[in-house]
Formats: sequence, structure tokens, C-alpha cells
Amino acid sequence: MRRINHFIDGKLVPGDSGRTGPVYDPATGTIQAEVDLAAPAEVDAAVEAARSAFPAWRQTPLSARAEVLFALRELIDASRQEIASLLTAEHGKVLSDAMGEVARGLENVEFACGIPNLLKGGFSEQASSGVDVFSIHQPLGVVAGITPFNFPAMVPMWMFANAIACGNTFVLKPSEKDPSVSLFLAGLLSEAGAPAGVFNVVQGDKEAVDRILDHPDVAAVSFVGSTPVARHVYETGTRHGKRVQALGGAKNHMVVLPDADIAMAADATVSAAYGSAGERCMAVSVVVAVGDSADPLVDAISHRLGRLRVGPGTDPESEMGPLITREHRDRVASFIDRSTTEGATVVIDGRTLDVACDGFFLGPSLIDHVAPGMAAYREEIFGPVLCVVRVATFQEALDLVNANPYGNGTAIFTRDGGAARRFRFEVEVGMVGVNVPVPVPVACYSFGGWKASLFGDTHMYGPEGIDFYTRTKVVTERWPDPSDSRIDLGFPQNR
Ligand code: NAD
Repeated sequence: MRRINHFIDGKLVPGDSGRTGPVYDPATGTIQAEVDLAAPAEVDAAVEAARSAFPAWRQTPLSARAEVLFALRELIDASRQEIASLLTAEHGKVLSDAMGEVARGLENVEFACGIPNLLKGGFSEQASSGVDVFSIHQPLGVVAGITPFNFPAMVPMWMFANAIACGNTFVLKPSEKDPSVSLFLAGLLSEAGAPAGVFNVVQGDKEAVDRILDHPDVAAVSFVGSTPVARHVYETGTRHGKRVQALGGAKNHMVVLPDADIAMAADATVSAAYGSAGERCMAVSVVVAVGDSADPLVDAISHRLGRLRVGPGTDPESEMGPLITREHRDRVASFIDRSTTEGATVVIDGRTLDVACDGFFLGPSLIDHVAPGMAAYREEIFGPVLCVVRVATFQEALDLVNANPYGNGTAIFTRDGGAARRFRFEVEVGMVGVNVPVPVPVACYSFGGWKASLFGDTHMYGPEGIDFYTRTKVVTERWPDPSDSRIDLGFPQNR
């Protein structure tokens, strides 16, 4: 059985904790590898490698650090297919989704290439008589990233590109469900010229995470995953004096007003709700159909779902792949029965899907007449099950979105600019789309939700990523009066 190791101090290191976890091929349901699960001592070794590499990396000129990122950019660009294949093999997503993931991750490396510009501080000349004041941004030291299964290439790039560019050294703890791509990225970083210890990967689960959270040499932690774990990471990390940004789960609503282009809204819904089998933190999971948009919209979505091709991610014909594990697939499917019991209408039941293999597949499901008290509305499903809630007015739709404990993403579909403007003004959600179903900000903005979707106060990547990975020093400087100088500055007294 293939074994997936750690990457510490520039080389692959086999685990010695005696614990491993299975890595499945979700399209066939078979175990394809075992991943090492670190004990605290292996986390300590990775942190020590990063700690030793920090002083020299911090001294490395900005232009030389930028050169590493430019080289990494080229290497990732040349390896798009290979990275996408690794993603499909362990996550299960279809190749087109996997290619999209690589492209969105790469944007963050490209952003970080601008580090000489991004780290510029401010300068106030003559703040007081003969006194200048300026600010500089300095790295924190060893920083860690803990990432979820659903974007095993992109989410690490959200973090490490800026962290390393700022002069920090990095320890990544990827999801144990699809760990291989982390090692591939580590190899590319070494090839790009990152010195040993600048980027380390420690494979593992809760045990590794908990050691990262109380390790005295880890200065900051970036986390992306479910809300209960995000809350644990935030509370534990900050209790140990660390800077923490922890992005959590989501329940994204897409509001469709009666004047919307129904065909456009239905196309958007299908790609946003079922893309990557709904395992995206920006997936639409609730459509809020306002007024008489509901019937035509449900018809249009059902019609499209009838044609959606579900199959292994490696098949170029497939538009939706399997879910990550059997347990997760069964949990997602359980919402279909629960909704029926609670009085909703199951329009399309994904459990009837017939695929000729044993993978973790579930067909797209559509549940209409869902009410906010039902389990399918209350809980994050994270799979290809879309709920439709029918409301009478714009105000009811807005109130529904704002009452939800999550606040990651939302979208509105309308032809009315005034309605769209009011929505974006009043909605309590971190990322908003107007006729755009998955409003993921580009790398020069930052990514993050509100409420139970984010613990901490900085969003991830973009300008807020630079803020997160640096601390500011303000220097107030006075030099002796030049008229006293021993150097000839043109004053008669020092000639
Ligand atoms: P998860 O919370 O189960 O795992 C995330 C990471 O935490 C993994 O590295 C995992 O090993 C570790 N972990 C799991 N349980 C832990 C525990 N009890 N203590 C300490 N560490 C633990 O999340 P997942 O299932 O991998 O990913 C899906 C979740 O991530 C969804 O809730 C999704 O909404 C969320 N997500 C959010 C965003 C965002 O930007 N807000 C992006 C992607 C995914």
C-alpha cells in the first residue's frame, strides 16, 4: 500500500507515530493509500525546521523572495494537469472543477509575486521638528495552516503564498482525506528555490492540530474547515497567545426575484449548487424564490438536473463526481428522508442514481417547500442537495438570509438595480453576488464570511492576508541637528 509521508526540512519524512489513515478513491470506494498521522513529536520536528529556517529567510531580500514566487508560479502553471489529476484521484471532483481549483489557487501565488510592493510601509517626514515617523511590516515567524478536504490545492495556496512572501516560514497540516497534493506543492516550492524548512507539511488529524495550537513557537494559525472545528481552533489558538483566523462552514442563500431571468438563474443555480458535488463553502444550498419566480424556477432547475451527468471525475463526460467518503454521502442522503418526514416536497431524489461502480456517489437532489425549521435548512449539508424556500416578498427574503447564523456568501438574481443595491447594502454576509452565483473574490480582494463563518477579524488572502502575516513596527526617528555635524554639510561652522 502506498504511504503518504510528511515533508520536513526539505525532504520526505516517514511518520513514526504508528498511526495512519486511509485515503480513498471516492469514485471506486477503494483505499488507494495510507497517510501518516503525526504525533506531537512530528509536529515539533516540523515547527523546529521552520523555526531554524526563519532567520535566514527573513533576511532574504524581497526581490529574491519574489523570484521564488515567480518560479513557483511558472512551475504550477506547467503542472496544472498533474495537480488536477491528483485532486480528482483523492477528492473525486471532475477534472474541469479540479483545473478551476488550480487556477484559483495560482492567482494567490501571482498576487504574492508583488510582495515588494505589498510590504511598503508609510512615511511621515517632519512629524515633529526634526522628527520623521515611518512604519514597516515584519514577518511573524513560524505560521501554520490547517486546511479542509474540499480544496486541497487552492486553500493551502490562499495561505502559504502570502505567508512565505512576507518572510514567514510555514507548516501546513492538510486534510487527511486528500493529502497527496500538499507534497506535490512542497516539491514545487523546493524546485522554485525555497530553502529547506521554509515550507513543511505535517500529515495528521486532531492530534496534530492540537499540538500546533499549543506549540509555543507557532506565532499564527490560519484555518479553513467546519464551524465547530473553526471555533475550537480559534479559541484554543488565541488562548495560547497566537494570532488566529479561522474560516468556518456556510449556508449560502441565492435570492431570485420575480423579475430575474429565470433561465440564467437556473443555469447559475445548477452550477453553484451541484458543482464539485456541492462540497464547496461557496456552494448555493438554499434558493429563496420570491413571489411567482418559484414555479418556473423549480421547473427549470429540474429540467437541467435531468441532463446532469454524474460519474467518475476522470471521465471527461462527467459533470459531477462522487462525495468524499461513504459516511459523508450517507449523511447527505439522510436529509432527503428527513425533509419528507418534515413535510417538504422531494422533487428529485438523488438516491435513485444508477452508477456502475461502488464509489461514493449521490445524484443531484432538489427539495421544494422547505421551511426554516427543517433539518435540511438548519444544517450545513455540504453535498448535492438543494433546498427551495418560497417567500412572498423581497423583505422576507432579506430577513431570512440575515436571520441565518452563517454569513459566508449570498447572491441575488434580478434585473432591478435598486433592489440589488438595497440587498448588498443590508445583507449581513461577507461575500455578495449580483447575478453571480458563487461570488468568490479575486486574489486582490480578501476572502471571508461573517458571523459563524469566520472566527477572528482578518479575512484570508489578498491585502488582509498580508496584514495577517505581518506585524507593524512604527519608528520615530530624530537625528542630531545637521549644523552640529562633523561632516561638511555646507554649514559655515562645520567647514
Ligand atoms: P473539518 O472541519 O472536518 O476539517 C478541517 C481541518 O481540521 C482538517 O485538516 C482536519 O484534519 C482538521 N480537524 C477535523 N476535526 C478536527 C478536530 N476535532 N480538532 C482539530 N482539528 C480537526 O472540515 P472538512 O470536512 O475537511 O471541510 C469541509 C468544511 O469546511 C465545511 O464545513 C465547509 O463549509 C468548510 N469550508 C469553509 C471554507 C471557507 O472559506 N469558509 C472553505 C472551504 C471549506
